[in-house]
Amino acid sequence: MEVNYRSTRSDAAPIPASQAILKGLADDGGLFVPDQLPVLDKSLGQLAEMDYQDVAYEVMKLLLTDFSEEELRTCIRNAYDDKFDTKEIAPLKKADGAYYLELFHGQTIAFKDMALSILPHLMITAARKNHIDHEIVILTATSGDTGKAALAGFANVKGTRIVVFYPKDGVSPIQEKMMVTQEGDNTCVVGIHGNFDNAQSGVKAIFTDQALREKMNRAGFQFSSANSINIGRLVPQVVYYVYAYTRLLKNGVIREGDRVNFTVPTGNFGNILAGYYAGRMGVPIGRLICASNSNKVLYDFFTTGTYDRNREFILTSSPSMDILISSNLERLIYHIAGDNAAKNKALMDELTRDGKYTITEDMRERLSQFTGGYATEEDTKEAIRSLFESDGYVIDPHTAVARSVYEGYRKATGDTTPTVIVSTASPFKFETSVLKALGQPVDADDLDLADALSKIAEVPVPKAVSCLRGAAVRHTGICDKSKESMQKMVEKFLGIED
Ligand SMILES: *Cc1c(COP(=O)(O)O)cnc(C)c1O
Repeated sequence: MEVNYRSTRSDAAPIPASQAILKGLADDGGLFVPDQLPVLDKSLGQLAEMDYQDVAYEVMKLLLTDFSEEELRTCIRNAYDDKFDTKEIAPLKKADGAYYLELFHGQTIAFKDMALSILPHLMITAARKNHIDHEIVILTATSGDTGKAALAGFANVKGTRIVVFYPKDGVSPIQEKMMVTQEGDNTCVVGIHGNFDNAQSGVKAIFTDQALREKMNRAGFQFSSANSINIGRLVPQVVYYVYAYTRLLKNGVIREGDRVNFTVPTGNFGNILAGYYAGRMGVPIGRLICASNSNKVLYDFFTTGTYDRNREFILTSSPSMDILISSNLERLIYHIAGDNAAKNKALMDELTRDGKYTITEDMRERLSQFTGGYATEEDTKEAIRSLFESDGYVIDPHTAVARSVYEGYRKATGDTTPTVIVSTASPFKFETSVLKALGQPVDADDLDLADALSKIAEVPVPKAVSCLRGAAVRHTGICDKSKESMQKMVEKFLGIED
């Protein structure tokens, strides 16, 4: 069965996966969605006997149908190798009656590595398939985490270059250190004198500059985007839902066909949407529990049917979930509207115009698999503290939001279905908040705090943190926040300045 990708905002003809990966966003501003959802063609029992890489192939071959077996297996082999610090890639740990799916064993110790390790390989394969011999240039603005994960993914991948802009005074010291020490001659990191919004506006303006595009074209370059709406990031995320289910099966926790719930700490809605797709592809998923922090726009949406971004933006200890517009929700809206682009577009236009929209009763009925919940800062701390107390297991604040929401759900419903809590970051990535929640002192430098956390959690300091000790700074580029200055930095790096 051939799967093509169509826009959520128009009835333009669907395109093959490789082209959707290269484009990122549809020309009409919509997101690409599969025009049909295939069903797994191996039984869950058969998949339970496979390792992560083979499960990845079995899932991705169904969604990226214009890639050959050889191409996909090469991408998978290059992505999920010893860059991960465990052979299992995504281990499942039991603690206090739930199963924690640890998606933080990659290079930047957070779940974005799951997709950003493979996206560069999918992209260069897609370019080759479409007879593009230009080098792909990735341009990213980051508030900290995504930038580093993208840098690590694209570093030293032949045929690609990556430029990351970050707000010079707007990221944590450890985040900055991780970025400016990035290796790989194809990487470039620039601090701007401005905030994240300035960085993002600059990148957008550079991206759409027609004259620059032509100049790059002549020099053999072309831009592409690695942000979370690219289906090249979404598809690899379906894999670990299938993998988690089949590990529970293999370990005898469930029998084939039994339902499993997933609780997902959510921001942009990409991770949990992959879970929804896994369900439609045949994984017996009971409930998808969408966990938010105090920016509870999704909780309100699931409980009222109204999405309303007109509210105060709150800074929390789970910054990767501090989001008021969850871009990937648009895909779910499109599906629950009956795969109707016109209906979806009308709602998205309302969101742009009024900052809110309300879905119909019919659409709400199709959301019945989802439950929304949220955790306050106090709840989050308590979730870290209590799990450490009961099981000696230390989790990061994002995962703690999910645990807190799941505990609330279990108490309210009495649902005893086996539940996977999707664990999106290593506690070492957010060590200050974690140590505070555990009542520990935090007045030391980052690397000493990592050592302290290591003793308490009885887990070694991950390489991503320990290798920062004494690492050489490789990127010293700084510029002001104007588009012109930022563009100069890009042109200089590509060697195409006038
Ligand atoms: C990005 C991120 C999330 C949110 O994931 P979405 O796919 O945007 O919902 C949660 N936790 C961590 C640690 C993240 O980096």
